[in-house]
Amino acid sequence: MFESERKELVDKLKARKITDKHVLEAFLKVERHLFLPKALETHAYRDVALPIGFGQTISQPFTVAFMTQELQLKKGAKVLEIGTGSGYQAAILVNMGIRVFSIERQFDIYARTRKFFDEMQINALLKLGDGTIGWEEFSPYDGIIVTAGSPSIPISLKKQLAIGGRLVIPVGDRSTQILTVITKEDENVFSQKEIPAFTFVPLIGREGWDS
Ligand code: SAH
Repeated sequence: MFESERKELVDKLKARKITDKHVLEAFLKVERHLFLPKALETHAYRDVALPIGFGQTISQPFTVAFMTQELQLKKGAKVLEIGTGSGYQAAILVNMGIRVFSIERQFDIYARTRKFFDEMQINALLKLGDGTIGWEEFSPYDGIIVTAGSPSIPISLKKQLAIGGRLVIPVGDRSTQILTVITKEDENVFSQKEIPAFTFVPLIGREGWDS
C-alpha cells in the first residue's frame, strides 16, 4: 500500500539533498502509515510531523532522513536513540541493518510501540526510562540520535559515544533548536557542527528540561 506515495516522498528527500542511498532505500521500504493513528494514514507520506497521541509527534520525514544521514553509519553499527515515540526512526535504522537501542520516557508510548514492534517483528531493544543519562550497559555506541529538543548536550551521551562515533542532537530553547552534530575524535576530544532551525518536542529528564 502507498508505494507510489513513498516513491514521491523519496523524490522530495532527494531534492532536499538527502543523498545516502541506504537512507533513501529505507524510506522506500518502511511503511510510515503503520506508525500513525489510522485516521492520519492518508497524510503519512506528506513531509510533515504528525501527532501520535499523548502530546507527542512522529518527526517530519526530512528530519528523520537528515539526522540519519548525519550519523554516517555502516551496516552493523550500534545506535542509541533517545525518544522512541512512534518507532519510525528506529525502524528506519533497523531497516538499514543497524543494531538499535531506543529509550522512551512515557509509559503509554513505550508500551504501545513495544507491542507494535513485537507484532511487526522489528528487531530493536526498547527501554522505558530517562534517555538523557543514556544506556550505559550497551555503550559505547557508533551513533546516538536524540529525537527531542534539549537545553544542552547531556554529558552522559558524550561519554557513551565510541571514538569516531557521532551524536546528533537538537539543542536550543523550547520553540526552536539548532541541530548539533558532535564527533568524538578521541577520548575528551570532540568536533562540532551546527545546522539551524529545527523544531522538536522537549527532551525531559535529569540532563534535559525539568518538565
Ligand atoms: N523518534 C520518534 C520521535 C518521537 S518525539 C519517532 O520516530 O516517532 C520525541 C519522543 O521523545 C517523545 O515520545 C517523548 O516522550 C520522548 N522523550 C522526551 N524526553 C525523553 C527522555 N528524557 N528520555 C526518553 N524519551 C524522551
